[in-house]
Amino acid sequence: MIIVGITGGIGSGKTTIAKHLNALGVPLYVADDEAKALMNRSKVIRRKLTAIFGENAYKNDELNRTFLAKKIFADKSMLAKMNAIVHPKVASHFKRWLKKQKAPYILKEAAIIFENGLQDNYDYIITVVADKDLRIERLLKRDNSNKEKILAIINNQWPDSKKMEQSDFVITNNNLNSALLDAEKIHQKILKLSSK
Ligand code: ATP
Repeated sequence: MIIVGITGGIGSGKTTIAKHLNALGVPLYVADDEAKALMNRSKVIRRKLTAIFGENAYKNDELNRTFLAKKIFADKSMLAKMNAIVHPKVASHFKRWLKKQKAPYILKEAAIIFENGLQDNYDYIITVVADKDLRIERLLKRDNSNKEKILAIINNQWPDSKKMEQSDFVITNNNLNSALLDAEKIHQKILKLSSK
């Protein structure tokens, strides 16, 4: 089974493109969504997170995101600790999911691939890029955020140029229609590659 990663900076439009390919029949695994779901449902993760962050890690039987975000903001080493608990569980969940898929290739959406040196886990990587101003504009519309917060995240991620160099395919999502057309062309190319 061919594994295609789709990545891109915050607000680049990776989810939008991934959903379009999913609608064309490509099975889609969204790593962040699965991580969030597992943090709520896995008893092992809950026990380990509670041991590190304390009882406030969960509130009303749900992961207490606000509390965790504050803890991680105050102590950056907490993020690595949380990832060390959550990532292996997501990886094994993904493996089980992968076994059940019947398609020429699957798409895995992950905000961070290159930053963590995980590119070898993929046969091909699609990077979605868009102009910074457009990304900020879209995120301001989508989220309850502000320009400073968005810029802080963008500046903390790898620049597009560095990701593009290491990608098999790049989609420029300044205009939605042309980005979706590009995605369809890439889809056809990967289908061809997978039939070889
Ligand atoms: P994040 O990293 O925050 O998850 P993302 O890269 O997955 O973001 P999307 O959620 O797909 O990005 O897009 C961000 C917002 O911009 C969404 O509200 C989406 O509907 C909108 N959007 C995406 N592409 C375009 C486009 N070409 N034109 C206008 N709006 C767009």
